Amino acid sequence: MLKNDQLDQWDRENFFHPSTHLAQHARGESPTRIVTGGSGCHIVDREGNKLLDAFAGLYCVNVGYGRKEIAEAIADQAKELAYYHSYVGHGTEASITLAKMILDRAPKNMSKVYFGLGGSDANETNVKLIWYYNNILGRPEKKKIISRWRGYHGSGLMTGSLTGLELFHKKFDLPLEQVVHTEAPYFFRRENAEQTESEFVAHCVAELETLISLEGADTIAAFIGEPILGTGGIVPPPAGYWAAIQEVLKKHDILLVADEVVTGFGRLGTMFGSEHYGIEPDLITIAKGMTSAYAPLSGSIVGEKMWTVLEKGTDENGPIGHGWTYSAHPIGAAAGVANLNLIDSLGLIENAGTVGSYLNVQMRQALHEHPHVGDVRGEGMMCAIEFVADKEKRNFFDPAQKIGPQIAAGLLEKGVIGRAMPQGDILGFAPPFCLTKEEADEVVSKTTDVVKSFSF
Ligand code: PMP
Repeated sequence: MLKNDQLDQWDRENFFHPSTHLAQHARGESPTRIVTGGSGCHIVDREGNKLLDAFAGLYCVNVGYGRKEIAEAIADQAKELAYYHSYVGHGTEASITLAKMILDRAPKNMSKVYFGLGGSDANETNVKLIWYYNNILGRPEKKKIISRWRGYHGSGLMTGSLTGLELFHKKFDLPLEQVVHTEAPYFFRRENAEQTESEFVAHCVAELETLISLEGADTIAAFIGEPILGTGGIVPPPAGYWAAIQEVLKKHDILLVADEVVTGFGRLGTMFGSEHYGIEPDLITIAKGMTSAYAPLSGSIVGEKMWTVLEKGTDENGPIGHGWTYSAHPIGAAAGVANLNLIDSLGLIENAGTVGSYLNVQMRQALHEHPHVGDVRGEGMMCAIEFVADKEKRNFFDPAQKIGPQIAAGLLEKGVIGRAMPQGDILGFAPPFCLTKEEADEVVSKTTDVVKSFSF
């Protein structure tokens, strides 16, 4: 075992951390936090601290840490056959079984699953399939993708463009021109405070209609959205939003991609978020919860409408020119099969629904009257608290004050991990589905203590 100070030094000298202030970290101004173990909803760090991970890693360790069933499935698969590719009709029992299990659980009218490694590459696949689809249909102009401000869809070139957060664009020459953004369904931050929820939905729809008519419907291929905004602030849509948006998309023959990287496989208490909000997508992006992050795996679930055109395309043009070496990696697929079986056998989706709503109700009750808490919101195992400088006027703090990060740091000191969301002073929670009511109580009481003792 290496000495801690040796690891710290190697870390600062060699390791390029994602989403990190590189200069501060290299100078030793931010800590190297080394995680050594985990069990259930807890992780253990190298100092031996046991922390309640109320963000499930990056909302991905849905079944919780230390699940032997998945670890053993991975080991068995690695011993039997660690790798073979899935090009030109090859497969493994694990990848074929997982595709079947996903389709059995997917919303209606879904046809096939393409497997990748992470959410970003799955959305990259989606964009390519959408472009291919419109080329095969003989409408090469219909290529632009509409995404929402504050949406999160990855950090590649195309997917970083789809992501509607400034940090992911600034100095990277993004967004690319094929991506256009529209208003987020963020009722709490609506510009016009007088608007009711339904008036705000009508406003979002009008914004979308205006964008489509400005760009020209014949240039817009698809609309992508998370059923509930995740990284952009954990924001459930106002009632009626998805029905109204889908009506507009249908009218203009625009495909709908439901990015279910966070919501897929149970986080909202239903198998998919699409089910929860009555969304009827043409493509569904899946990743995180498919393996509960025990191995990297993502996917694009392709609807029947697109699949028939893709098949026609290969009859006309030969095999589809899209594939990754690690598409449908057997170890990821074995982890996925074991994970979905575990979710079923432990009834974890039901638990995500009941304990998730308990967490939301308790958090709201504990904090909604606090003078600097503007909003407590969530759905299923997702919950967020948004802090405001002035509640009446809905004024926000200067981001330089780092209110959200400071509160998250205070909570960490008490042994609970929440996440300071990247834009706005928002503290987010997305615990593993196995969270108990007692653990939910601990999250609420420690958060309340930190918020009430914080000097805003
Ligand atoms: N889509 C959504 C909704 C996500 O939340 C994320 C990651 N947080 C991604 C896509 C990108 O996934 P990855 O980081 O695995 O590339």
